Amino acid sequence: MKSFRLSWLCLAALLACSAQAATPSASAKAGPKAAAKSPPKPAPKNNNARARLDLGPLCAKLSPRLPGVSQQDCKSSGLLAASASSRSGVPILYKDQAAKAKNPVRVLLLGGIHGDELTASAIVFQWMRWLQTPQAQAFQWRVAPLVNPDGLLAAKPKRMNASGIDLNRNFPTPNWKSETQQYWVKKTGSDPRRFPGNQPLSEPESRWVHDQIERFKPHVVISVHAPFGVLDFDGPSEPPQRFGRLLFNPVGVYPGSLGNYLGVQRKLPIVTIELPNSLEMPPPPEVQRIWQDMLVWMRNNIHPVAAKPAKAAKNLKPGKSVAAAKPPAGKAVVKSKPSQSGN
Ligand SMILES: [Zn+2]
Repeated sequence: MKSFRLSWLCLAALLACSAQAATPSASAKAGPKAAAKSPPKPAPKNNNARARLDLGPLCAKLSPRLPGVSQQDCKSSGLLAASASSRSGVPILYKDQAAKAKNPVRVLLLGGIHGDELTASAIVFQWMRWLQTPQAQAFQWRVAPLVNPDGLLAAKPKRMNASGIDLNRNFPTPNWKSETQQYWVKKTGSDPRRFPGNQPLSEPESRWVHDQIERFKPHVVISVHAPFGVLDFDGPSEPPQRFGRLLFNPVGVYPGSLGNYLGVQRKLPIVTIELPNSLEMPPPPEVQRIWQDMLVWMRNNIHPVAAKPAKAAKNLKPGKSVAAAKPPAGKAVVKSKPSQSGN
């Protein structure tokens, strides 16, 4: 474990060096005269990016964990290192894809917030290959296929991050402390796989996701999980009824979950795709059908004018209970679902 951590620290150090190299040059620091000789560099297009990462070493570790994703697929994915890293120092990878349409719907696509749901990351890698198809280019994308790299890369892949925290219970829903603790103790029997942490957003991975909501301001969030084989939805839009063979079947709303935080509290539509198996990919035609149905649903149901994340954020003050938050039509707040399940 020590050498594992050490190697990621080394990688992080290398990245920090690259980032330093990208800071203003010595001539720029030499004063206004020197700076005037060379034209100012354009501002970075995306302040999320820390450095272009040599994906080789990371992909060599990731590929054996990801069904159907070769090292070459991983290396040619165009993923970048975000400014944030996981708890153990693995860079969080993401990719942006601009839209060809004007005023596009912005989509935040997340895979693998639970590290032992291998297909939930692998399918996002497969979908990334299709981001440049005409249908996909109607949308502006930010894609993060491995939100929890520590869990995925653990000796035995695990749900939690390196701190042992279930990232999907670490988002700041109202009365977070009392409700997540109560739920964890009473409903899960203090299951270590579902430990929410001691503070909301205590983890770099959940903070990074939260940061993307504020900066990228998605109109819709798609989060991929496994293995319940259903679609779940939270938020004000019409729920999708079917993506491929996956049918809409709400799995519940949990204190601290991303679905609760975004869909119920912030009224930001979020689709949770639960693939039917954590280890085995759906057949290729099904991978494609889920993708296509998702695009069609977004085109018909998500509209750029509907998203006002900055205003909605004002409603996040602690004090409101989950019960007080009005669920969207057709979506009941379920606080007492079977304890051992839930995305
Ligand atoms: Zn999950």
